[in-house]
Amino acid sequence: MGNTLTQPVKYLKGVGPARSKILARVGIFTVKDLLYYFPKEHDDRRTIKKISELSNGEVTTISGKVEATDVISYGPKLSVFKAAISDNSGVIYASFFKKPNYRYDVFKKLKSDFTRGTKVILHGRAEKNNFVCQIIPEEYELLKNDYSDTIHTGRIVPIYPLTEGLHSRFLRELIKSALDKYVNEITEIIPYKFTTNLKMMSLKKALKQYHFPDNFQLLQEARKRLAFEEFVLHQTAMLLSKKQNKYVLKNRTYKVQGNLLKPFKNALGFEFTQSQKKVINEIFNDMQSPAAMNRLLIGDVGSGKTVVALSSALLAIENGFQVAFMAPTEILAEQHYYTVKNLFKNIDVRYTLLIGSTPVKEKMNILKKLSAGELDIIIGTHALIESRVSFKSLGLIIIDEQHKFGVIQRQKLRGKSSKGSCPDVLVMTATPIPRTLALTVYGDLEVSSITELPPGRKPPKTFYTSEQESYEFVKSEVKGGRQAYIVFPLVEESDKLELKSVMGEVKNLKENVFPDFKVGLLHGQMPGKIKEETMLAFRDKKIEILVATTVIEVGLDIPNATVMVIEHSERFGLASLHQLRGRIGRSTEMDSFCLLSGSPKTEEAKKRIEVMLSTNDGFKIGEMDLKLRGTGQFFGTMQHGLSELKIGDITRDIDIIVRAREVAGKIIESGLEKEFPLKTALLETYAGRIQLSQIG
Ligand code: ADP
Ligand code: MG
Repeated sequence: MGNTLTQPVKYLKGVGPARSKILARVGIFTVKDLLYYFPKEHDDRRTIKKISELSNGEVTTISGKVEATDVISYGPKLSVFKAAISDNSGVIYASFFKKPNYRYDVFKKLKSDFTRGTKVILHGRAEKNNFVCQIIPEEYELLKNDYSDTIHTGRIVPIYPLTEGLHSRFLRELIKSALDKYVNEITEIIPYKFTTNLKMMSLKKALKQYHFPDNFQLLQEARKRLAFEEFVLHQTAMLLSKKQNKYVLKNRTYKVQGNLLKPFKNALGFEFTQSQKKVINEIFNDMQSPAAMNRLLIGDVGSGKTVVALSSALLAIENGFQVAFMAPTEILAEQHYYTVKNLFKNIDVRYTLLIGSTPVKEKMNILKKLSAGELDIIIGTHALIESRVSFKSLGLIIIDEQHKFGVIQRQKLRGKSSKGSCPDVLVMTATPIPRTLALTVYGDLEVSSITELPPGRKPPKTFYTSEQESYEFVKSEVKGGRQAYIVFPLVEESDKLELKSVMGEVKNLKENVFPDFKVGLLHGQMPGKIKEETMLAFRDKKIEILVATTVIEVGLDIPNATVMVIEHSERFGLASLHQLRGRIGRSTEMDSFCLLSGSPKTEEAKKRIEVMLSTNDGFKIGEMDLKLRGTGQFFGTMQHGLSELKIGDITRDIDIIVRAREVAGKIIESGLEKEFPLKTALLETYAGRIQLSQIG
């Protein structure tokens, strides 16, 4: 294209090789990068204060005429350049302190700027008391005629993220001059017909106003316009990827045979909820259609996602295909394995578990069986993506906790099917997020939501209590015939030291707090067999109080356990707290109680507890979690292109996203993504992050 926007900044006036290296450190290479290097905030320096009205300590902007200047030396370490500035209300000294240098005059520039009679505008802190009357300038500017063309003062001033050697004054001037000279070369990417009826400003104007706004109203509009731009590109990429998926045919036909699904349903002992029926329908339709499925299943803890996922697994298995069920951690994988073991007890399905700690010999055996088609469903962790793993006829991939995995991993697992048959993919999220958010983040997937819990569930009541109170409460409930969980945080399940301290606390609980009760222990480092025995003992009431680490986050399902004490609750994340609490409230008759103890120190920790006290709604909790942690942490390194959003904020900009999604739909309808400039912009931003193999 060879326009000036792609030129290296090096060639701009005042930059050169040394400064261009510094700019490169913050990701500025070209003129365009400069225009897209956005301020982190703005400082309102529009109000010019009268000198006579300044008060001590105030940070403000003044303007006046230079009356006289002087340099005063305070010895070898400190000199000060003073300029007397007057406006029609009074006089003040502008004082610039510097360390002198015997080789050159450190005040040379100031002396040439502050000549008598020059009009200046200054921003800084005023010092006014019995001894001094001065302002310590952070910024100053010389005034030619009026305030309209100031950059650093007398306006709403952009504050840029800086790095060592990169100074705000230099950067601000550079960006301003780049905007003045080159912003007109910016190509409007979204066709006017899609933006004009939304009453949005042009991209060029938005860029100008976002850096150097004329007022805060325009700044907001500019932000919205730029966020919109980002979301339109993001959503176009997502929809495109989704559309391309539709053309991936899978070369197999499924029929509901019933030889596995029927006995499974009969063994469950409950009816599916309306919501479950609806999503099972959606999933089965996808699986029976010629295109490969790409579906996200969202639903709150305990809404019954697992039985839905297992139903789809059985449909694949009934038709002679294999299933891979992937979880993000070993513990979760193990839990799913126990669930499968339990629910497939009397069903003719061959299943196994494959995780990092599976002994090598057993692993080899599993891999052999898998490729020979002697296993129907394999449950595991990342281990399933390893190159050695191969299937005979992989038909369905189920991925739990989607937000911990990226598109790339999904593609990798997909690649494991034999040639010409693309497996269906069902992803589940255990931390539900609101539907609109899900549509944004997982815009390349179809979305199914379970919107109700199985009937008769009583939401747990949550309290913030002292340890002592919670123990007393546990005693009284257990005496009444119920059971309790006491949960300790073990952030890293493999951390030996941390475990040791938890074991110490457990010993104390057993011997001193609950000597008259049957107390059991469950933690991640126990051998699998003992874990299982412990869970069974708890189910059979041979254990009344189960002290556990986060192992119990999933899987355990004991309606008679109606109390959960969470110790050091400040150390758990919101998602974990919600998952944990999901273990209780499973009885249709009895009330359940979640008691949070601990001492939150940070604001964020306090907020988490507040959220837990205020709601049981997983969608709200998911949204709060996202807000508290920010998208980066919440979604991890997941490659959904979210990191490309510099301005757009998926938790704040829901209404912008909705419009952007509509526009993205229209763009694809009219094939505009195949043409310049959209095609270029999409490839520039999203190639490699989202599958965009077939644009144009
Ligand atoms: P999720 O994975 O969504 O957190 P699960 O699938 O683990 O939820 O379901 C939680 C519990 O509810 C399980 O014991 C499951 O057997 C049970 N369950 C699921 N669906 C129903 C239903 N329709 N009626 C009653 N119980 C159900
Ligand atoms: Mg679950």
